[in-house]
Amino acid sequence: MKFKPFIIPLFIPHIGCPHRCVFCNQTSITGHKGGAPSPEEVRNAISRFLGIKHRRRHPVEVAFYGGTFLGLSRSYRDSLLDAVQGFVEEGEVDSIRFSTRPDTISDDSLMELSPYAVRVIEVGAQSTNESVLALSRRGHTAEDTRKAVNILKSHKFRVGIQIMPGLPGDTPESILETGREVAKLKPDFVRIYPTVVVKNTVLERWFREGRFKPLSLSSAIELTKTLYLLFKAHNISVIRMGLQASDGLLEPGNVVGGPFHPAFGHLVHSALFFDRATQVFEDEKLLSNKVVLKVHPRDVSRMKGIKNHNIEQLMKRFDLKELRVIPDPEVSQDMLKVDIANLPLRQDLSAKKRFNDRSKESLFGQRRVRKMNI
Ligand code: SF4
Repeated sequence: MKFKPFIIPLFIPHIGCPHRCVFCNQTSITGHKGGAPSPEEVRNAISRFLGIKHRRRHPVEVAFYGGTFLGLSRSYRDSLLDAVQGFVEEGEVDSIRFSTRPDTISDDSLMELSPYAVRVIEVGAQSTNESVLALSRRGHTAEDTRKAVNILKSHKFRVGIQIMPGLPGDTPESILETGREVAKLKPDFVRIYPTVVVKNTVLERWFREGRFKPLSLSSAIELTKTLYLLFKAHNISVIRMGLQASDGLLEPGNVVGGPFHPAFGHLVHSALFFDRATQVFEDEKLLSNKVVLKVHPRDVSRMKGIKNHNIEQLMKRFDLKELRVIPDPEVSQDMLKVDIANLPLRQDLSAKKRFNDRSKESLFGQRRVRKMNI
């Protein structure tokens, strides 16, 4: 039986940050209006979450987000970690994770974590382009990120890297260069958050003054798709694409501009499936006018696209009479199996050219054709 991790999110909005980055307003992003949680509040929150946890959810991780965890004062940070560690010792929580700025990571700061079950640390890199980092007032360099990741690895933490395509000064080239640089660092996973203009930020002012132009939704999808394929080619998991549609972001007026979409990751996956189907149809001169696409059950809605958008576009483009998407647990995730067996081919295809085994499989970034005898 496959278990799904149970993550208990605890917010420390802006706590530990040396200043505000131009794009950031954690209250608007997370919808969390509270301040620094006390150890008792942390214990109460964990107990509440554990009370609603399904027995099939495992392992249990407590995650501190929304600030700079290693920027917290040592005493406050230890008081929060002590509060969680109590649950670890009781066997109710398995591990702790947090996000932090790259310039807070050092051998010393990591040694201070040794009494606690911290296993995963996410680094807010945002970009590796120095001028993008400076314009975003990050206050650290790309070298800080490189050093941070190397130190984390030497201490055997699982490492995540967060990037934000579309920051001030970013171009498609600098965005892809950031992707390549991050891939070279070989993190265990990445999160891609295309930059959104959030209320009450410097970026909002620049946007209103016409000094900042965010990515459009379609270019953000295109760039994120390319980054996804790049990371996938390096065996790096992309665990999130696009900001989570929190209560804060869904509150009217909190997103002022930029490529926010509550199902951004779904749009990227759908675009990937669309590209893949298009490529297979074009490459293999798939001339049947009735096609069945088989995908893993979890990929059905990705293949179809929002409101069947992919299906409609593919049918139009390839002049198909029928295009069905069928869930097939035998097909791995991210795979697409095109099946045209037992379906009539178009009149203009000579008998000699018909497919004997009319099926093929395709994996993003790595095409796999499964027998196609002509
Ligand atoms: S982006 Fe990170 S470091 Fe910058 S203000 Fe927000 S939480 Fe703090």
